[in-house]
Amino acid sequence: MSQYDFDLFVIGGGSGGVRAGRIAAGHGARVAVAEEYRYGGTCVIRGCVPKKLLVYGSEFSHAFEDAAGFGWTVPPARFDWATMIANKDKEIGRLEKIYRGLFENAGAKTFDGRAALKDAHTVAIGETTVTAETILIATGGRPTKPAIPGAELMISSNEAFHLPALPKRVVVIGGGYIACEFAGIFNGFGSQVTQLYRGEQILRGFDADIRSHLAGELVKSGIDLRVKIDVTAVEKVAGGLLVHLTDGSSLEADCVMAATGRQPNTDGLGLEAVGVKTDADGAVVVDEYSRSSIGNIYAVGDVTNRINLTPVAIREGHAFADTVFGKKPRKADHTDVPAAVFSQPPVGTVGLSEEAARKAYGEVDIYRTTFRPMRATISGRDERILMKLVVDARSDRVIGAHMVGPEAGEIIQGLAIAIKAKATKADFDATVGIHPTAAEEFVTLREKVREPVKA
Ligand code: FAD
Repeated sequence: MSQYDFDLFVIGGGSGGVRAGRIAAGHGARVAVAEEYRYGGTCVIRGCVPKKLLVYGSEFSHAFEDAAGFGWTVPPARFDWATMIANKDKEIGRLEKIYRGLFENAGAKTFDGRAALKDAHTVAIGETTVTAETILIATGGRPTKPAIPGAELMISSNEAFHLPALPKRVVVIGGGYIACEFAGIFNGFGSQVTQLYRGEQILRGFDADIRSHLAGELVKSGIDLRVKIDVTAVEKVAGGLLVHLTDGSSLEADCVMAATGRQPNTDGLGLEAVGVKTDADGAVVVDEYSRSSIGNIYAVGDVTNRINLTPVAIREGHAFADTVFGKKPRKADHTDVPAAVFSQPPVGTVGLSEEAARKAYGEVDIYRTTFRPMRATISGRDERILMKLVVDARSDRVIGAHMVGPEAGEIIQGLAIAIKAKATKADFDATVGIHPTAAEEFVTLREKVREPVKA
């Protein structure tokens, strides 16, 4: 019998913590978990899931408009924010119960409260103190706001899920995926949306063609997207908020949402006293097995700031549990992680951007197409799809696939398997398309894009 109360104590009941605790318990470990807010974590409570439900809700307005071209007369549609939010909350409550149940059914003990380390084997949850042989930090991250006057008047994604009413005029600050997604959500529901980004182009780190194509589509969808501009202050005025910009102009809004980044949740965890190293952003520094600088303390998910996505946190948690409790040491694989941006239209991406591929491989072949979706021919919607393949010229391997257009996430998930399996462009060419789909274009791309003429 171990000298500790538990074999594993998990701090944080989100994507990574739930998976790690459940799998460790399955391997026979005595597991406990502390969650300070709601089981399920960011993804389930105030991230991926409620976000996607709002995306679904907001997309109906486009569908009503498109229906006319197909002969439908749709009576003027009315939208009720309170119904949308109540139904979303009901679903989130259902999922939260399932997540808590995953722990409890696996025989783990749950603590409802904020946990902090007392020493390398002791955790305090309020007045309660317990010991554990291994500790897993899976505390995720939280949104940050720009440090400018009036920051307290801004909301973050956390509050966006609980607004009492749909704001008429929304300013979204940021160019990352969360900013693009919420700009689309508010726009779809009928708000007047301005999206401001201080950089050159939205979606930093994505393929350049994807970035510029999406920017164009967002503008066409009605979002007033402005880049190379930032907010200097927000002030309360009669009838709303006044947003001051770096070019000296100002904008009136009813809601200002900062989607300007996230920070690992390591404050007040007691890491420093115990000797767990964190980096300049506050993320727990870990090795490939998610082990921190203290041998019995591990960390997975957003708190390590590696690839901040739910399926990655889940895999890190699973690999940790197999390594430490399942006698199957293994690392989570961080290569070729596919991702989607649920903007309207959405983006799907896997592998390297053209820019990253040119740096890593030197010689690359690019295949690219843009076309009008078939639905848009009759609906009359001004919309174009972009698809792009990045191929290593020497081995013929497809090393990147990118798309902007309807169902991009669903389509790229399939291509991600091909890329993981190291499929070549010849394999893509040998694959028969499904007609008529947009996805078939990925197997009929024959013409290489000509290299840009070098000066
Ligand atoms: P979390 O899920 O954040 O869980 C951490 C948990 O720890 C939280 O429940 C927190 O309350 C708890 N906690 C923190 N400190 C303590 C403490 N001291 N004591 C006790 N409990 C504590 N990812 C995708 O893959 N796809 C998406 O579409 C997507 N959309 C997103 C949309 C938004 C708006 C946001 C914010 C994120 C989105 N993400 C998405 C990212 C995804 O939510 C995270 O990558 C994922 O939740 C990380 O899991 P985690 O286990 O590391 O942390």
